[in-house]
Amino acid sequence: MNKDNKVENIIKSIIRISSPRDFSNSIYLHEPFFSETKAYEYIKDCLDSSWVSSSGKWVDRLEKEICVYTKSKFCVAVSNGTVALRLALHLVGVKPRDEVIIPPMSFVATANAVSHCGAIPHFVDIEEKTLGMCPLALEKRLNDIGERVKDNLINKNTKRRISAIMPVHIFGNPASIHEIKKVADKWGLPIIEDGAESLGSWRIVNGQKIHCGLFGEIGTISFNGNKIITTGGGGALITNNGEIAKIAKHLSTTAKVNHKWEFDHDEIGWNDRMPNLNASIGVAQMEDFERRLNAKRKLRNLYNNEFKKFNDIEIINEPDQCISNFWMITLRLCNKNIIEVKELREKILSKSHQKNLYLRPVWKLINHLPMYKNCPKGSITVAEDQSLRLINLPSSPQILL
Ligand SMILES: *Cc1c(COP(=O)(O)O)cnc(C)c1O
Repeated sequence: MNKDNKVENIIKSIIRISSPRDFSNSIYLHEPFFSETKAYEYIKDCLDSSWVSSSGKWVDRLEKEICVYTKSKFCVAVSNGTVALRLALHLVGVKPRDEVIIPPMSFVATANAVSHCGAIPHFVDIEEKTLGMCPLALEKRLNDIGERVKDNLINKNTKRRISAIMPVHIFGNPASIHEIKKVADKWGLPIIEDGAESLGSWRIVNGQKIHCGLFGEIGTISFNGNKIITTGGGGALITNNGEIAKIAKHLSTTAKVNHKWEFDHDEIGWNDRMPNLNASIGVAQMEDFERRLNAKRKLRNLYNNEFKKFNDIEIINEPDQCISNFWMITLRLCNKNIIEVKELREKILSKSHQKNLYLRPVWKLINHLPMYKNCPKGSITVAEDQSLRLINLPSSPQILL
């Protein structure tokens, strides 16, 4: 097959799976979907009752739905996923000028949340199988640069305190979080799990299903428009720690002390709560969540079968002992020659956009963005290599619904 033919065939295959009904439509990676839900009815309830702002029964119901589904003891709904990360980092004690360990392959918000606390991202490499932070790379990096000084872990090179680890469950693939946790425990570091993309993703440990976000101190979720469930904009923290949940709620509600009429605030808080209006459409989609997850799993299998005929291309697999939500179904170019990979990737992306098939590569690595280029980092060769190989495919559940 010559190269242009190959690109044509790849795109044909993607369109065949992702656009079974109408080949003329624009196809995006992940789109919101409300038909066959009670979203319209629930929004009307908010408007009729005039409970549209940052408290109300739909916020309570969404938090409850998340707790029931994930088996988390507590959930605090906030205004977006970035805010959830910033609040979580603050809650585990990340202070200005600290360093927080994150993977270089993530959406920029992961690093921005660290910056919003006045702290500095410190990049540790990812692993090929999960695309998440590599526990071995983490262990090696901490051994290389970590030094215990009293109760703190200090980066010998920068003299700054390292105060948290924030792995990301990328595209809904659970990271090797149980292994990361072992390293974190050894060094006494808290874990915040950036689970913006992983509602519906689980890791099985000793036969037990544990939802992503419940391995560390706090997990976060995003309900942005492109995520698996959307509230327009929104996010949440999940935790099994009641004390953390209580403070999260307090600080996200302007640290207001409960009183019928007094305006009494005992700390500098934030106005971070999710509005009732937004929560109502989240509840409507949660009621339809299993059906969506099943559709996405089926879609992934269809892509997988379709791409078997290309010998140096694969659809990313569910890691062993993991249940993925398949938020993003990802194609990986496996050719050993990285120059050819780059060339093929560019061709697939530009050709697909000409056909209104809006494929996207993985994000540019965060350490290549101007504001993060001087941040400390270990060797990140896997992330550098993988970032050139990945293309996300249309993954909306409604393709099959
Ligand atoms: C979407 C996303 C965020 C941020 O969530 P917002 O709700 O958009 O603020 C953070 N991290 C990752 C990995 C994301 O995909």
